[in-house]
Amino acid sequence: MSQWSQALSGFARDAAAEPAIGGNRGLQLEDPLLFEQDAPGRTGVDLPEPPAADRLGALRRQGPIGLPGLSEPQVVRHFMRASQKNYGIDMGLYPLGSCTMKHNPRLNEKLARLPGFADIHPLQPESTVQGALELIDALAFWLKALTGMPAVAMSPAAGAHGELCGMMCIAAALAARGERRQRVLVPESAHGTNPATAATCGFAVEAIPANERGRIDLVALKAKLAPDVAAIMLTNPNTCGLFEDEILAIAEAVHAVGAYFYCDGANFNALVGRVRPGDLGIDCMHLNLHKTFSTPHGGGGPGSGPVVLAASLAGFAPLPWVVHGPAGFRLIEQAEGPAAQAIGRMKGFHGQMGMFVRALAYIMSHGADGMRQLSGDAVLNANYLLARLGDVLTASYPGPCMHEVLFDDRFLRDSGVTTLDFAKALTDEGFHPMTMYFPLVVHGALLMEPTESESKASLDRFIAVVRALAARAKAGDAADFHAAPRFTPRRRLDETAAARKPVLRWRKAAEAAE
Ligand SMILES: *Cc1c(COP(=O)(O)O)cnc(C)c1O
Repeated sequence: MSQWSQALSGFARDAAAEPAIGGNRGLQLEDPLLFEQDAPGRTGVDLPEPPAADRLGALRRQGPIGLPGLSEPQVVRHFMRASQKNYGIDMGLYPLGSCTMKHNPRLNEKLARLPGFADIHPLQPESTVQGALELIDALAFWLKALTGMPAVAMSPAAGAHGELCGMMCIAAALAARGERRQRVLVPESAHGTNPATAATCGFAVEAIPANERGRIDLVALKAKLAPDVAAIMLTNPNTCGLFEDEILAIAEAVHAVGAYFYCDGANFNALVGRVRPGDLGIDCMHLNLHKTFSTPHGGGGPGSGPVVLAASLAGFAPLPWVVHGPAGFRLIEQAEGPAAQAIGRMKGFHGQMGMFVRALAYIMSHGADGMRQLSGDAVLNANYLLARLGDVLTASYPGPCMHEVLFDDRFLRDSGVTTLDFAKALTDEGFHPMTMYFPLVVHGALLMEPTESESKASLDRFIAVVRALAARAKAGDAADFHAAPRFTPRRRLDETAAARKPVLRWRKAAEAAE
């Protein structure tokens, strides 16, 4: 067995996992880390001889630089091979619920790469970056128009960062009112970032139960509301893919005790162009530009999480503020004048400029009517999945749903197949799995969000595979499921060990396998 195949079998569960003699799987090639390919002195470029040592003096490097010696083909192949082990929305259907994995139009990419946007520096004089400031202002205009809110903080770098920004604005507003409210109410089905944000801001988090319709239990909410509640954090549509249809009553009850209404707007893809959160009584909401307004995400890429604010919170928005001055656009960078109550900075500079360009390109190329159509198509696609899968999987709540559909694992009862097994089998069929085991309010959750990007033909292929897998599970093919995935570069990982004791070095993995 070669060193590479030994390393591979170290990850695998059974002998059938054994790869080819050379360690590869078909044309998916294995590759050691760049540092493990190091050959001291090897280089991809021919540099001229350095000047004589005596002329370099103190500038001369004393020891090795610590970078691997590699040829250009080695580097190119390494990154190409790594990219082929990756799955992304550009490869196929990516039904990961709560993530809005939609197509990223190439027009956005082209515009984001224009030198006037890509090559400017945040410390350039304002007079030389008027176009960039105008772009931020134009995007802010659209976000305010689409949400019906009077202000927006552009700088937060992701959804969770936007939540932090919003909750810090709420904490500052309460402090300005001279109040010390300690409790934040969060529904059971909330994204984990919601309670984490509230706790980070020093609030005590309390769960609000859901009713049998998968929505907030209004009676239970009212029972918890009191003058020491700072805010409620609610997602609409919620993470079960359902519209919180009592939202007006929720807003009224929350405001009646003087608390703020934070909405997690990560699911805005279901509403954009149809409902303005400002009209629902929401005081503060982050938008995931990298979900609703395309722009690539996942794999640790940059996000962008602007926060729209009601008038009561607008004054606390973080710096810098882009404002219209007599000679063009201007930045307010200090907490003074109109920004005297600003909470400070969330980020070094103005925000994720490249994401702003992509989001504005997306919005302007679709137009207001296109925004409305995309939410309609996203909801239609999710309901198509519900309609075509509802008889073989078990839908957690009766439809219609919004932009995502929630199933639970009752359809797998007594089959010996778990939600995880089912997802691994889907991978073998060429589909990225749906979100699993989230939200926590149903058992063995399977949350599917097709987005508006998918055609009926691609949804039909997915539906056919899911239906066939469900039939196989019910027919008692559990062992088959337990062996999946078979065709991926890695078989099933020991996920606990992979998280707790990651083996990141190729040679170590090979040794471990011996
Ligand atoms: C994605 C998401 C978040 C967090 O957004 P990030 O950009 O990943 O930080 C928060 N809430 C919900 C409901 C989400 O889907």
